[in-house]
Amino acid sequence: MFKAIVIEKDDAGYRAGLKDVDESTLPPGDVTVRVAYSTVNYKDGLALTGKAPVVRKFPLHAGIDFAGTVEASEDPRFQPGDAVLLNGFGVGETHSGGLAQKARVKADWLLPLPAGLTARQAMALGTAGYTAMLCVMALERHGVAPGSGDVLVTGANGGVGTVAIALLSRLGHRVVASTGRTNEADFLKGLGAAEVIAREELSAPGKPLGKERWVGVVDSVGSHTLANACATTRYGGTVAACGLAQGMDFPGNVAPFILRGITLCGIDSVMANMATRRAAWDRLAQDLDLAKLDLLTQEVTLEGALQTGNDILAGKVRGRVVVNVNA
Ligand code: NDP
Repeated sequence: MFKAIVIEKDDAGYRAGLKDVDESTLPPGDVTVRVAYSTVNYKDGLALTGKAPVVRKFPLHAGIDFAGTVEASEDPRFQPGDAVLLNGFGVGETHSGGLAQKARVKADWLLPLPAGLTARQAMALGTAGYTAMLCVMALERHGVAPGSGDVLVTGANGGVGTVAIALLSRLGHRVVASTGRTNEADFLKGLGAAEVIAREELSAPGKPLGKERWVGVVDSVGSHTLANACATTRYGGTVAACGLAQGMDFPGNVAPFILRGITLCGIDSVMANMATRRAAWDRLAQDLDLAKLDLLTQEVTLEGALQTGNDILAGKVRGRVVVNVNA
């Protein structure tokens, strides 16, 4: 028997709870993993609470991420004892996931744990941190170079936001952090933000074009914030859009694209190919100040993850939450 957060939906309704389960609850797959750490991302919050239809198969073990050790493998690429990492691919949505002491998945979905990161550090980063890196890489691909101007990070106190600030500042960018929690300004500056602005500067309906302010943007918020971020991006600048914490809508206009030649990059972590994932994780292992990662991480148990699911949707979580599934 092992412990798992099980999501059920039946006549009694939608619910998530910590249960003792056996291996018969694991789905088919070629690699069985003893999970060491998982995490609570925004999407996990949606899955745990049922506030959006993230989980589409029941019953299911929650958790879109995990890191751990291979227990058994039918695939020659992985041997018992190997340290591995998984993000996305529908795990925790349609295939049982990482908020459990064991998981069974397709070998095609697994990455070896990157050299230089422990399982706990990998999950302190999790999908949110890996997505922050995908955003940074998109800005780089479009020529956003350190020293070329300010880079805006929205949803600054969130998982994507905090990791993006730490990464961008380490790489030499001047980072402007946009947050609804300006009382956390010292924390954000400790991560590397040069300036902190109030969320309200960007979150209300705005003009088609505004003063040119940013050479790059990492946006995890969407809605009017994304539209205003585009409208205030400098000529030729780039916006990486990865989230919807404010809303899924994009009430923007074409002026920033046709008059300032800005680029809007869509970022998806879930189905990104293996080469992209490896590149992002190798960069995280290389470019992130791990002392900053400690600063932005708190740890909870599997049981604690249930409450964290509510807290993350309420915008109450600062930084990242790592889940020690064996505590
Ligand atoms: P978090 O909840 O950790 O962070 C989101 C942050 O957004 C909050 O901390 C808050 O920051 C800000 N925020 C919350 N509500 C609002 C609001 N109503 N208006 C404006 N800002 C708000 O989530 P994550 O960092 O894990 O994820 C962020 C977003 O990115 C989510 O929408 C998630 O689904 C998406 N995502 C997408 C991925 C992809 O593959 N495309 C992968 C990972 C995440 P503050 O208090 O500082 O304002």
